Amino acid sequence: MTVNSVVNGVPGGYPPGGAAARQARELLEQERRTRIAELALLDAEATGAPDEAALARRGTLQGNVEEIDAALIRLDDGTYGLCGDCRKPIPEGRLEIIPYARRCVGCQQRRR
Ligand SMILES: [Zn+2]
Repeated sequence: MTVNSVVNGVPGGYPPGGAAARQARELLEQERRTRIAELALLDAEATGAPDEAALARRGTLQGNVEEIDAALIRLDDGTYGLCGDCRKPIPEGRLEIIPYARRCVGCQQRRR
């Protein structure tokens, strides 16, 4: 087994400082900037009392930023890309769509 395939004895992780981790970090930071920019835009556009749609959008964006921050911490401790429930690697395709995903699809669906 190569070094890249095992982190703390768990296959499929993103070793901190490795190329995959760097790439994931860039993606996460980009996603974070996009959300922050949209939050700023919501503030700039706000006139008078915020409507319900704007409040909901703001809540979603803030939730995303928190998830992204949590994912960046997981990148640092080497647990990024592993399902928080079953500890199996989250498929790359899922991480491409949701880079801050905490769980594999199966575990996420069981939570709903
Ligand atoms: Zn899982």
